[in-house]
Amino acid sequence: MRLLWLFIAVLEGCRPTPTAPDVFLISVDTTRADAISAWGLAPAGREDLRGVPITPHIDALAAKGVRYAWAFAHAPSTLASHATVFTGHEPHAVGIPRNGFPLLPGAETLAERLHGRGYGTTAVLGSSALARPMGMDRGFDAWDERFSVARSRRHEATATEVTDRALSELQSHKGSAPVFLFVHYFDAHGPYQAPAPFAGRFHTGGKVLPSDLDRLAQACRAGQCDAAEVRAAIQEVRGAYLEEVAYVDSEIGRLLAEPERPNGRIVILFGDHGEMLGENAGRPFGHGGDVDPATTHVPLLIVAPGLAPGVVPTATGLRDVAGILLRQLGDTTPFGDAASDALRDIPMEATQPGNAPPGWNNRDNERGMVYDDRLVIESTEHPPEWQQVGGTALSADAPGCASLLERLRAWHKDAPTFRSVQMDKATHEGLKALGYEE
Ligand SMILES: [Zn+2]
Repeated sequence: MRLLWLFIAVLEGCRPTPTAPDVFLISVDTTRADAISAWGLAPAGREDLRGVPITPHIDALAAKGVRYAWAFAHAPSTLASHATVFTGHEPHAVGIPRNGFPLLPGAETLAERLHGRGYGTTAVLGSSALARPMGMDRGFDAWDERFSVARSRRHEATATEVTDRALSELQSHKGSAPVFLFVHYFDAHGPYQAPAPFAGRFHTGGKVLPSDLDRLAQACRAGQCDAAEVRAAIQEVRGAYLEEVAYVDSEIGRLLAEPERPNGRIVILFGDHGEMLGENAGRPFGHGGDVDPATTHVPLLIVAPGLAPGVVPTATGLRDVAGILLRQLGDTTPFGDAASDALRDIPMEATQPGNAPPGWNNRDNERGMVYDDRLVIESTEHPPEWQQVGGTALSADAPGCASLLERLRAWHKDAPTFRSVQMDKATHEGLKALGYEE
Protein backbone atom coordinates (compact mmCIF):
# COMPACT_ATOMS: atom_id res chain seq x y z
CA MET A 1 0.00 0.00 0.00
CA ARG A 2 2.81 2.37 0.87
CA LEU A 3 4.33 1.74 -2.57
CA LEU A 4 1.00 2.50 -4.21
CA TRP A 5 0.79 5.87 -2.42
CA LEU A 6 4.37 6.57 -3.39
CA PHE A 7 3.51 5.80 -7.01
CA ILE A 8 0.49 8.11 -6.88
CA ALA A 9 2.60 10.82 -5.26
CA VAL A 10 5.16 10.57 -8.06
CA LEU A 11 2.39 10.81 -10.64
CA GLU A 12 0.99 13.87 -8.87
CA GLY A 13 4.44 15.43 -8.89
CA CYS A 14 4.67 15.05 -12.66
CA ARG A 15 1.20 16.36 -13.28
CA PRO A 16 0.81 20.08 -13.97
CA THR A 17 -1.35 22.09 -11.66
CA PRO A 18 -4.78 22.63 -13.21
CA THR A 19 -3.98 26.29 -13.79
CA ALA A 20 -0.59 25.83 -15.47
CA PRO A 21 -0.50 28.28 -18.38
CA ASP A 22 0.65 27.47 -21.88
CA VAL A 23 4.14 28.75 -22.66
CA PHE A 24 5.11 30.23 -26.03
CA LEU A 25 8.86 30.71 -26.42
CA ILE A 26 9.37 32.77 -29.58
CA SER A 27 12.83 33.17 -31.10
CA VAL A 28 13.29 35.99 -33.59
CA ASP A 29 16.55 35.05 -35.26
CA THR A 30 19.02 37.76 -36.31
CA THR A 31 16.90 40.51 -34.76
CA ARG A 32 18.75 43.36 -33.13
CA ALA A 33 17.00 45.25 -30.37
CA ASP A 34 16.86 48.50 -32.31
CA ALA A 35 14.96 46.77 -35.11
CA ILE A 36 11.99 46.64 -32.75
CA SER A 37 10.15 49.92 -32.22
CA ALA A 38 9.59 49.27 -28.51
CA TRP A 39 13.32 49.48 -27.91
CA GLY A 40 13.44 52.74 -29.84
CA LEU A 41 17.18 53.04 -29.55
CA ALA A 42 20.07 54.12 -31.68
CA PRO A 43 23.73 54.51 -30.74
CA ALA A 44 24.65 58.05 -29.79
CA GLY A 45 25.48 60.02 -32.90
CA ARG A 46 23.89 57.41 -35.16
CA GLU A 47 20.30 58.58 -35.12
CA ASP A 48 20.19 57.80 -38.83
CA LEU A 49 19.96 54.17 -37.75
CA ARG A 50 16.86 54.69 -35.66
CA GLY A 51 14.15 52.25 -36.59
CA VAL A 52 10.73 53.23 -37.78
CA PRO A 53 7.57 51.85 -36.15
CA ILE A 54 7.18 48.58 -37.99
CA THR A 55 6.69 46.01 -35.26
CA PRO A 56 3.22 46.66 -33.79
CA HIS A 57 2.68 43.10 -32.57
CA ILE A 58 5.96 42.80 -30.67
CA ASP A 59 5.48 46.35 -29.42
CA ALA A 60 2.05 45.40 -28.05
CA LEU A 61 3.62 42.46 -26.22
CA ALA A 62 6.29 44.73 -24.78
CA ALA A 63 3.64 47.17 -23.58
CA LYS A 64 1.72 44.57 -21.62
CA GLY A 65 4.69 42.63 -20.29
CA VAL A 66 8.16 43.08 -18.88
CA ARG A 67 10.65 44.39 -21.41
CA TYR A 68 14.36 43.88 -20.84
CA ALA A 69 15.91 47.08 -22.17
CA TRP A 70 19.42 45.63 -22.26
CA ALA A 71 19.42 41.92 -22.98
CA PHE A 72 22.61 40.48 -24.43
CA ALA A 73 23.30 37.29 -26.35
CA HIS A 74 26.36 35.42 -25.11
CA ALA A 75 27.36 34.40 -28.63
CA PRO A 76 26.47 35.88 -32.04
CA SER A 77 25.56 32.55 -33.62
CA THR A 78 22.27 30.70 -33.76
CA LEU A 79 23.10 27.39 -32.11
CA ALA A 80 25.36 28.70 -29.34
CA SER A 81 22.85 31.37 -28.43
CA HIS A 82 19.84 29.05 -28.41
CA ALA A 83 21.86 26.60 -26.30
CA THR A 84 22.24 29.29 -23.63
CA VAL A 85 18.47 29.81 -23.60
CA PHE A 86 17.67 26.10 -23.57
CA THR A 87 20.16 25.16 -20.84
CA GLY A 88 20.59 28.31 -18.74
CA HIS A 89 24.37 28.14 -19.18
CA GLU A 90 26.73 30.53 -20.95
CA PRO A 91 28.61 28.99 -23.93
CA HIS A 92 31.74 27.96 -22.02
CA ALA A 93 29.62 26.12 -19.46
CA VAL A 94 27.44 24.40 -22.03
CA GLY A 95 30.35 23.66 -24.39
CA ILE A 96 28.99 25.20 -27.61
CA PRO A 97 31.09 28.04 -29.06
CA ARG A 98 29.10 28.52 -32.30
CA ASN A 99 27.07 26.63 -34.90
CA GLY A 100 27.85 23.00 -35.57
CA PHE A 101 28.69 21.74 -32.07
CA PRO A 102 25.98 19.34 -30.87
CA LEU A 103 24.62 19.70 -27.35
CA LEU A 104 26.56 17.47 -24.98
CA PRO A 105 24.70 14.94 -22.86
CA GLY A 106 24.10 16.00 -19.30
CA ALA A 107 22.79 19.53 -19.22
CA GLU A 108 19.07 19.62 -18.47
CA THR A 109 17.09 21.49 -21.13
CA LEU A 110 14.12 23.75 -20.60
CA ALA A 111 11.93 21.41 -22.65
CA GLU A 112 12.96 18.49 -20.44
CA ARG A 113 12.10 20.48 -17.33
CA LEU A 114 8.68 21.48 -18.65
CA HIS A 115 8.00 18.02 -19.99
CA GLY A 116 8.68 16.73 -16.50
CA ARG A 117 6.10 19.20 -15.21
CA GLY A 118 3.48 17.65 -17.51
CA TYR A 119 3.72 19.98 -20.48
CA GLY A 120 3.19 18.81 -24.02
CA THR A 121 6.37 20.10 -25.71
CA THR A 122 6.49 21.04 -29.35
CA ALA A 123 8.85 23.02 -31.58
CA VAL A 124 8.61 24.51 -35.05
CA LEU A 125 11.95 25.37 -36.63
CA GLY A 126 12.88 28.03 -39.15
CA SER A 127 16.46 26.96 -39.93
CA SER A 128 18.75 23.98 -40.24
CA ALA A 129 21.16 25.63 -37.78
CA LEU A 130 19.08 24.02 -35.01
CA ALA A 131 18.45 20.75 -36.86
CA ARG A 132 17.93 17.56 -34.86
CA PRO A 133 21.58 16.40 -35.05
CA MET A 134 22.46 19.40 -32.88
CA GLY A 135 20.58 17.83 -29.97
CA MET A 136 18.36 20.78 -29.23
CA ASP A 137 15.27 18.59 -29.66
CA ARG A 138 15.83 16.97 -26.27
CA GLY A 139 12.65 17.05 -24.20
CA PHE A 140 10.35 17.83 -27.13
CA ASP A 141 7.46 15.52 -28.00
CA ALA A 142 7.28 17.04 -31.46
CA TRP A 143 10.06 18.74 -33.44
CA ASP A 144 9.03 20.14 -36.82
CA GLU A 145 12.03 20.82 -39.04
CA ARG A 146 10.45 20.73 -42.45
CA PHE A 147 12.47 23.20 -44.50
CA SER A 148 11.02 24.32 -47.81
CA VAL A 149 13.63 26.89 -48.82
CA ALA A 150 17.03 25.69 -49.98
CA ARG A 151 19.53 28.47 -50.28
CA SER A 152 22.68 26.97 -51.72
CA ARG A 153 22.39 23.96 -49.39
CA ARG A 154 21.04 26.02 -46.49
CA HIS A 155 17.61 25.00 -45.32
CA GLU A 156 14.88 27.29 -44.04
CA ALA A 157 11.14 27.52 -43.48
CA THR A 158 9.38 30.83 -44.10
CA ALA A 159 7.68 32.70 -41.27
CA THR A 160 4.31 31.96 -42.86
CA GLU A 161 5.04 28.24 -42.83
CA VAL A 162 6.33 28.38 -39.27
CA THR A 163 3.15 30.13 -38.08
CA ASP A 164 0.88 27.75 -40.00
CA ARG A 165 2.62 24.74 -38.46
CA ALA A 166 2.63 26.23 -34.97
CA LEU A 167 -1.11 26.90 -35.19
CA SER A 168 -1.65 23.36 -36.43
CA GLU A 169 0.32 22.00 -33.46
CA LEU A 170 -1.80 24.07 -31.09
CA GLN A 171 -4.98 22.64 -32.61
CA SER A 172 -3.73 19.15 -31.88
CA HIS A 173 -3.31 20.05 -28.19
CA LYS A 174 -6.85 21.32 -27.66
CA GLY A 175 -8.24 20.17 -24.35
CA SER A 176 -5.12 18.35 -23.25
CA ALA A 177 -2.16 19.24 -21.04
CA PRO A 178 -0.60 22.70 -21.10
CA VAL A 179 1.66 23.31 -24.07
CA PHE A 180 5.24 24.48 -24.30
CA LEU A 181 5.58 25.79 -27.85
CA PHE A 182 8.99 26.86 -29.18
CA VAL A 183 8.70 28.84 -32.40
CA HIS A 184 11.75 29.86 -34.41
CA TYR A 185 11.46 32.63 -37.00
CA PHE A 186 14.55 32.84 -39.21
CA ASP A 187 13.55 35.32 -41.94
CA ALA A 188 15.55 38.32 -40.69
CA HIS A 189 18.70 36.34 -41.46
CA GLY A 190 20.18 37.29 -44.83
CA PRO A 191 19.43 37.46 -47.67
CA TYR A 192 16.93 40.24 -47.00
CA GLN A 193 14.10 39.48 -49.38
CA ALA A 194 10.80 40.00 -47.61
CA PRO A 195 7.60 38.98 -49.38
CA ALA A 196 4.78 41.34 -50.35
CA PRO A 197 3.43 43.59 -48.94
CA PHE A 198 6.62 44.22 -46.96
CA ALA A 199 9.08 44.25 -49.86
CA GLY A 200 9.87 47.80 -50.87
CA ARG A 201 8.29 49.37 -47.78
CA PHE A 202 11.56 50.65 -46.34
CA HIS A 203 13.96 50.58 -49.23
CA THR A 204 13.59 51.71 -52.79
CA GLY A 205 15.77 49.29 -54.67
CA GLY A 206 15.17 45.70 -55.70
CA LYS A 207 16.49 42.63 -53.95
CA VAL A 208 19.58 43.10 -51.83
CA LEU A 209 21.91 40.41 -53.09
CA PRO A 210 24.94 38.96 -51.33
CA SER A 211 27.03 40.50 -54.11
CA ASP A 212 25.67 43.94 -53.12
CA LEU A 213 26.86 43.39 -49.56
CA ASP A 214 30.25 42.21 -50.80
CA ARG A 215 30.63 45.37 -52.84
CA LEU A 216 29.69 47.60 -49.89
CA ALA A 217 31.94 45.65 -47.54
CA GLN A 218 34.85 46.21 -49.90
CA ALA A 219 34.11 49.94 -49.94
CA CYS A 220 33.99 49.99 -46.12
CA ARG A 221 37.28 48.13 -45.83
CA ALA A 222 38.76 50.69 -48.21
CA GLY A 223 37.81 53.40 -45.71
CA GLN A 224 34.73 54.66 -47.57
CA CYS A 225 32.07 53.48 -45.12
CA ASP A 226 31.07 57.05 -44.32
CA ALA A 227 31.05 58.27 -47.92
CA ALA A 228 27.60 59.61 -48.77
CA GLU A 229 26.83 57.09 -51.48
CA VAL A 230 28.00 54.18 -49.32
CA ARG A 231 25.93 55.39 -46.36
CA ALA A 232 22.90 55.68 -48.62
CA ALA A 233 23.46 52.14 -49.89
CA ILE A 234 23.80 50.84 -46.31
CA GLN A 235 20.51 52.54 -45.43
CA GLU A 236 18.93 50.66 -48.30
CA VAL A 237 20.31 47.40 -46.88
CA ARG A 238 18.97 48.33 -43.46
CA GLY A 239 15.57 49.03 -44.98
CA ALA A 240 15.49 45.61 -46.65
CA TYR A 241 16.47 44.02 -43.31
CA LEU A 242 13.72 45.90 -41.45
CA GLU A 243 11.20 44.66 -44.00
CA GLU A 244 12.06 41.08 -42.99
CA VAL A 245 11.64 42.01 -39.31
CA ALA A 246 8.26 43.57 -40.14
CA TYR A 247 7.22 40.38 -41.92
CA VAL A 248 8.16 38.27 -38.90
CA ASP A 249 6.30 40.69 -36.63
CA SER A 250 3.15 40.26 -38.69
CA GLU A 251 3.44 36.48 -38.43
CA ILE A 252 3.88 36.71 -34.65
CA GLY A 253 0.67 38.72 -34.63
CA ARG A 254 -1.06 35.93 -36.53
CA LEU A 255 0.27 33.32 -34.10
CA LEU A 256 -0.81 35.26 -31.03
CA ALA A 257 -4.27 35.91 -32.47
CA GLU A 258 -4.96 32.28 -31.58
CA PRO A 259 -7.32 32.57 -28.58
CA GLU A 260 -5.75 31.78 -25.25
CA ARG A 261 -6.99 28.68 -23.51
CA PRO A 262 -8.65 29.00 -20.08
CA ASN A 263 -5.34 28.24 -18.35
CA GLY A 264 -3.79 31.38 -19.82
CA ARG A 265 -0.55 31.88 -21.68
CA ILE A 266 2.98 33.02 -21.00
CA VAL A 267 4.84 34.51 -23.96
CA ILE A 268 8.60 34.96 -23.96
CA LEU A 269 10.24 36.50 -27.00
CA PHE A 270 13.97 36.83 -27.58
CA GLY A 271 16.44 37.56 -30.36
CA ASP A 272 19.27 35.03 -30.56
CA HIS A 273 21.70 37.67 -31.89
CA GLY A 274 21.62 40.81 -33.96
CA GLU A 275 23.14 41.81 -37.27
CA MET A 276 25.88 44.21 -38.34
CA LEU A 277 24.58 46.97 -40.59
CA GLY A 278 27.65 49.04 -41.28
CA GLU A 279 28.86 49.58 -37.70
CA ASN A 280 32.25 47.93 -38.21
CA ALA A 281 34.27 48.84 -41.28
CA GLY A 282 36.18 45.55 -41.08
CA ARG A 283 33.11 43.30 -40.91
CA PRO A 284 30.21 45.59 -41.80
CA PHE A 285 27.50 42.98 -42.43
CA GLY A 286 26.26 39.68 -41.06
CA HIS A 287 27.10 38.25 -37.65
CA GLY A 288 29.30 35.67 -36.00
CA GLY A 289 32.63 37.48 -35.88
CA ASP A 290 31.91 40.29 -33.43
CA VAL A 291 30.36 40.97 -30.06
CA ASP A 292 29.53 44.56 -30.99
CA PRO A 293 26.14 45.47 -29.46
CA ALA A 294 24.77 45.45 -33.02
CA THR A 295 25.13 41.67 -32.87
CA THR A 296 24.64 41.04 -29.15
CA HIS A 297 22.01 43.54 -27.91
CA VAL A 298 18.77 41.73 -28.53
CA PRO A 299 15.07 42.01 -27.70
CA LEU A 300 13.80 40.06 -24.69
CA LEU A 301 10.35 40.30 -23.13
CA ILE A 302 7.91 38.23 -21.13
CA VAL A 303 4.15 38.51 -20.83
CA ALA A 304 2.55 36.38 -18.13
CA PRO A 305 -0.76 36.25 -16.27
CA GLY A 306 -0.54 38.50 -13.24
CA LEU A 307 2.87 39.90 -14.17
CA ALA A 308 2.80 43.70 -13.97
CA PRO A 309 4.10 45.51 -17.05
CA GLY A 310 7.45 47.19 -16.71
CA VAL A 311 10.96 47.67 -17.98
CA VAL A 312 14.10 46.06 -16.59
CA PRO A 313 16.75 48.74 -17.12
CA THR A 314 19.79 46.70 -16.12
CA ALA A 315 21.68 44.27 -18.33
CA THR A 316 20.48 40.67 -18.61
CA GLY A 317 22.06 37.70 -20.40
CA LEU A 318 20.04 35.20 -22.43
CA ARG A 319 21.11 32.39 -20.07
CA ASP A 320 18.58 33.93 -17.66
CA VAL A 321 15.59 33.37 -19.96
CA ALA A 322 14.76 29.93 -18.55
CA GLY A 323 15.04 31.16 -14.98
CA ILE A 324 12.74 34.09 -15.73
CA LEU A 325 10.15 31.67 -17.07
CA LEU A 326 10.49 29.05 -14.35
CA ARG A 327 10.02 31.66 -11.64
CA GLN A 328 6.72 32.62 -13.28
CA LEU A 329 5.71 28.97 -13.06
CA GLY A 330 6.67 28.83 -9.38
CA ASP A 331 9.45 26.35 -10.13
CA THR A 332 12.26 27.12 -7.70
CA THR A 333 14.42 24.09 -8.46
CA PRO A 334 17.81 25.32 -9.75
CA PHE A 335 18.20 25.33 -13.53
CA GLY A 336 21.50 25.94 -15.32
CA ASP A 337 23.33 28.92 -13.91
CA ALA A 338 20.09 30.77 -13.29
CA ALA A 339 19.83 31.65 -9.64
CA SER A 340 18.23 35.01 -9.06
CA ASP A 341 17.68 38.43 -10.55
CA ALA A 342 20.95 39.64 -9.03
CA LEU A 343 23.31 41.53 -11.29
CA ARG A 344 26.17 39.45 -12.58
CA ASP A 345 28.74 39.41 -15.34
CA ILE A 346 27.44 38.65 -18.83
CA PRO A 347 30.26 37.11 -20.89
CA MET A 348 30.09 37.23 -24.69
CA GLU A 349 32.35 35.62 -27.25
CA ALA A 350 32.63 35.41 -31.03
CA THR A 351 34.70 32.45 -32.16
CA GLN A 352 35.47 31.26 -35.64
CA PRO A 353 37.10 28.19 -37.12
CA GLY A 354 40.77 28.37 -37.79
CA ASN A 355 43.95 26.39 -37.57
CA ALA A 356 46.41 25.74 -34.76
CA PRO A 357 46.38 25.92 -31.87
CA PRO A 358 43.19 23.89 -31.54
CA GLY A 359 41.80 25.64 -28.48
CA TRP A 360 38.22 26.53 -27.62
CA ASN A 361 38.39 29.65 -29.72
CA ASN A 362 40.25 27.95 -32.54
CA ARG A 363 40.74 31.39 -34.02
CA ASP A 364 40.76 34.25 -31.60
CA ASN A 365 37.96 36.64 -32.35
CA GLU A 366 36.18 39.20 -30.21
CA ARG A 367 35.05 38.73 -26.66
CA GLY A 368 33.31 41.02 -24.24
CA MET A 369 31.65 41.32 -20.89
CA VAL A 370 28.74 43.37 -19.61
CA TYR A 371 28.03 44.20 -16.00
CA ASP A 372 25.20 46.54 -15.07
CA ASP A 373 25.77 49.55 -17.35
CA ARG A 374 29.38 48.80 -18.30
CA LEU A 375 30.59 46.92 -21.37
CA VAL A 376 34.12 46.00 -22.44
CA ILE A 377 35.17 44.43 -25.74
CA GLU A 378 38.62 43.32 -26.82
CA SER A 379 40.18 41.15 -29.49
CA THR A 380 43.50 40.43 -31.12
CA GLU A 381 42.56 43.12 -33.65
CA HIS A 382 42.05 45.97 -31.23
CA PRO A 383 42.81 46.94 -27.63
CA PRO A 384 40.10 46.92 -24.97
CA GLU A 385 37.24 49.32 -25.58
CA TRP A 386 34.82 50.29 -22.84
CA GLN A 387 31.33 51.65 -23.27
CA GLN A 388 28.51 52.71 -21.09
CA VAL A 389 25.75 50.38 -22.21
CA GLY A 390 23.98 52.46 -24.80
CA GLY A 391 27.00 53.60 -26.73
CA THR A 392 29.00 56.26 -24.87
CA ALA A 393 32.72 55.42 -24.85
CA LEU A 394 34.43 55.22 -21.47
CA SER A 395 38.09 55.51 -20.58
CA ALA A 396 40.05 52.72 -18.89
CA ASP A 397 40.11 54.60 -15.60
CA ALA A 398 36.35 55.08 -15.39
CA PRO A 399 34.84 53.35 -12.34
CA GLY A 400 34.49 49.61 -12.83
CA CYS A 401 36.27 49.44 -16.19
CA ALA A 402 39.60 47.92 -15.14
CA SER A 403 38.05 45.22 -12.98
CA LEU A 404 35.56 44.34 -15.73
CA LEU A 405 38.44 43.71 -18.14
CA GLU A 406 40.19 41.59 -15.50
CA ARG A 407 37.08 39.45 -15.12
CA LEU A 408 36.70 39.12 -18.90
CA ARG A 409 40.29 37.92 -19.25
CA ALA A 410 39.91 35.46 -16.38
CA TRP A 411 36.76 34.03 -17.99
CA HIS A 412 38.49 33.82 -21.38
CA LYS A 413 41.50 32.07 -19.86
CA ASP A 414 39.22 29.42 -18.34
CA ALA A 415 37.69 28.50 -21.71
CA PRO A 416 37.12 24.78 -22.28
CA THR A 417 39.41 22.72 -24.43
CA PHE A 418 38.70 22.18 -28.11
CA ARG A 419 35.84 19.89 -29.11
CA SER A 420 36.01 17.97 -32.34
CA VAL A 421 32.72 17.90 -34.20
CA GLN A 422 31.25 14.70 -35.54
CA MET A 423 28.30 15.01 -37.88
CA ASP A 424 26.99 13.62 -41.12
CA LYS A 425 27.97 15.20 -44.45
CA ALA A 426 24.57 16.79 -45.17
CA THR A 427 24.48 18.55 -41.80
CA HIS A 428 28.06 19.65 -42.26
CA GLU A 429 27.30 21.09 -45.69
CA GLY A 430 24.16 22.84 -44.45
CA LEU A 431 26.05 24.55 -41.64
CA LYS A 432 28.91 25.44 -43.93
CA ALA A 433 26.42 27.18 -46.19
CA LEU A 434 25.27 29.23 -43.19
CA GLY A 435 28.76 30.66 -43.05
CA TYR A 436 30.22 28.40 -40.38
CA GLU A 437 32.96 26.56 -42.16
CA GLU A 438 33.23 23.43 -40.07
ZN1 LIG B 1 20.61 33.07 -35.36
